[in-house]
Order: sequence, then structure tokens, then C-alpha cells
Amino acid sequence: MSAEFAVVRSGRPAGAEERAAILAAPGFGQHFTDHMAAATWTAEGGWEGHKVGPLEPYQLHPSAAVLHYAQEIFEGLKAYRHDDGSVWLFRPEVNARRFARSARRLALPVLPEDDFVTSVATLVEVDEPWVPAPEGEESLYLRPFMFASEAFLGVRPASRVEYAVIASPAGPYFESGVTGVTLWVTSTYTRAAEGGTGAAKCGGNYAGSLAAQREAAEHGCDQVLYLDSAGKGNLEESGTMNLLLITSDGRLVTPELGTILEGVTRDTLLALAGEHGLTPVERSVSIGELRAGVTDGTFVEVFAAGTAAVVTPITGFKGEGGGGEGYEFTVGDGSPGRKTVELREHVLDIQYGRAQDTHGWLHRVC
Ligand SMILES: *Cc1c(COP(=O)(O)O)cnc(C)c1O
Repeated sequence: MSAEFAVVRSGRPAGAEERAAILAAPGFGQHFTDHMAAATWTAEGGWEGHKVGPLEPYQLHPSAAVLHYAQEIFEGLKAYRHDDGSVWLFRPEVNARRFARSARRLALPVLPEDDFVTSVATLVEVDEPWVPAPEGEESLYLRPFMFASEAFLGVRPASRVEYAVIASPAGPYFESGVTGVTLWVTSTYTRAAEGGTGAAKCGGNYAGSLAAQREAAEHGCDQVLYLDSAGKGNLEESGTMNLLLITSDGRLVTPELGTILEGVTRDTLLALAGEHGLTPVERSVSIGELRAGVTDGTFVEVFAAGTAAVVTPITGFKGEGGGGEGYEFTVGDGSPGRKTVELREHVLDIQYGRAQDTHGWLHRVC
């Protein structure tokens, strides 16, 4: 049986006018709803104190383990309002399963998957007025996370851990139509090694990615693209999004799992490929194959996939070759590909209830 998240309503929720002003231009990750879901785990008592209560700061002892050894994992998913006013989650059980896998990798306690879904759904129900109307691609972004709060400087799995979900209204990712981004193929940094934490959604992976992201910006690129850490030159992912390629003979190719993050969007696109005349293929692709294939027309479209933007067209790449000399190439004519845009629309249409949910991916909240 799954735990109940007892609701304690905030005595000081935002007023309707304040909320309306925020929802008119929410941006991303700057504004938060009135409530949060929470539960605490201790080695003695297991999971306790499940509740949805007012959003409030933590008090942490300066020796709290997370501040020193980074035992932290998170998830990201969205609640979507349909035209009839109802509110839905998209495949939350897949996020729940991944959260459990991340917890095992970081030696954090596993939150039962049902409790994960219940916590998210209860928070969305309580903060329902914060779910934007579906005018563009607005949604309520949900951020479940877990961290070691035990006050102890020893290095071992923590005996006290906090779990929480916060929610933040999100505007359309592309304000003025879907545009492409360029990727910097870093040869300085890698994201994850075999046996490392690449497949876990943990804060530490992101801390390590910021210098690479800065390097990408210094070379005039929007995002970074990582290659495998073993030096084989295989494409991995962008660090916040998975990478997919479309071939001229109708294949949807994406690097196989292992050191990359197993994206829900990646999986959704592989499942929808057939409906777009594409055959899904999970295999390694080297940077050499990508360069040659984009140039000779074997790879006709490239895009990145993740919950925030759904699908982001990749229009160009830059990097450094052998002797340090730079290279640069453009995908197709440098504008977002046709199938890329078609796949993006399909996922959004399912999420916003405009296309049939034949896979049973939607979960109604209220
Ligand atoms: C979250 C994440 C993704 C995308 O996963 P989705 O489930 O599709 O949002 C890709 N790469 C990394 C490193 C991530 O953390």
C-alpha cells in the first residue's frame, strides 16, 4: 500500500493576482508554488512524516553530508493542463523507477515508486491553480529530489535523508517558434565513465558539467556534446538531453544505454518512431561517423531530447580535431528538420491531450 501525503495547507498562499502575474510570464525555475511534498528517512524508522505542506526553507547543520559528499539525486517531470481544464502527468511511473535506480547508485534509501507518484500527484492537486492554461507550451514543472541531511563528516551512506517535491510554473521553452542550437564537441571533458554515475540523475553530474558548458559558450555554442570517456570517440549526450539522429533511409538512431542518462523523452521517441516511418536503432555512433554522415547526407536530421524542451533541433557542430585545428559543420540546411518538428509536435499533442494516448502514458491528477 502506498503512503498518504497528509495535506497541511499554507496559511499564506500567493493571492490570485500575484499568481496570475507570475503565470503570465513564468520563465523557468524562478517562481515556486505555495506548497511542497516531503518525507524523511532515518535508518531506525524508515520513511516517515509524508506530507504536503507550505513551501519552506531547510535548516541544515553545517556538517550535513550532502554539503560535503554530494549525496543528492533528482527528477524532472511536468503537469499539463488540457483544454477541458483537467490536469495530467506524463509517464510519472518511469520517473519513479529511475529515481529508485539513482537512489541505489548513490547509496540513498529507495522511496517506494508508488509513494513517488502519490507525492507528485498530491502536490499538483493542492497547487492546481498554479498549472498554467495550455496556451503555448506552458506547464507546471515538478522537481522531486532527495539528499543526505545527516550531520556527520564520516564517509558512509547517511542515516538521515530528506525527500521533497517542489513545483515551478514553466513558460514555453522556445518563446518564438522552434529554433535550432549548436553543439560544442568537447575534447577536454567527459561526462561519465563506465562504472561511474552517468546513468544516475544526480547533482554531482551537473556540477561537473558546468566547466564544459562554459567551454561551449566560449566557442560560441549553445550546449556541449560529450564523447565517451574511454577515448573511442563515440557520441554520448549533451549533459541535460539525449542525442538522436535521423538517417536518409529512415532510421532513428540513438546511442545505447550505459553511461548516458536513460531519458523518458528518448524512450518515448523510440516508441513513437514507427508511427513516423522510422525504425528505432540503439547503437554507438562515433564523431567521425557523424561528421562524414552529415556531410554525405546519411544523417539528415539531428536533435536532442529531454523533458524541458521535448525536442531541440541541432543545426550545427563545432569541435577540435587531431592537431588542435578546429572543425565546424552544419546539419542539412541549418534549419530544424521536418521529422524532428513532427516528432516534437506528436509528443506535445499527447501530453496536452490533443492526440490519442494509445500507449497509456497519461496519468490524470484532477
Ligand atoms: C534528465 C536528463 C536527460 C533527459 O531525460 P528526460 O527524462 O527525457 O527528461 C538527459 N540527460 C541527462 C544527463 C539528464 O539528467
